[in-house]
Amino acid sequence: MGALNHLMATEHLGPDGVHERCERCTGVTIHEVRVEIRTESTAEENAQFSREPYRVSVCRECGSESVLRMNDA
Ligand SMILES: [Zn+2]
Repeated sequence: MGALNHLMATEHLGPDGVHERCERCTGVTIHEVRVEIRTESTAEENAQFSREPYRVSVCRECGSESVLRMNDA
């Protein structure tokens, strides 16, 4: 008695580990996902578009990086 429940004990990948499909591995692998604010300074006049949040996922198997713009409206 008194044993603690092991929450997600078997597949605890951390807050950044998610399963996604990798184009290079041609399968589902573990990716580290983070959100970056990247600066697009191509047009100096359009300052409102200068900072965009991007979702960056890196495959832990092959290291390939896929970037997805979050404000895709
Ligand atoms: Zn991969």
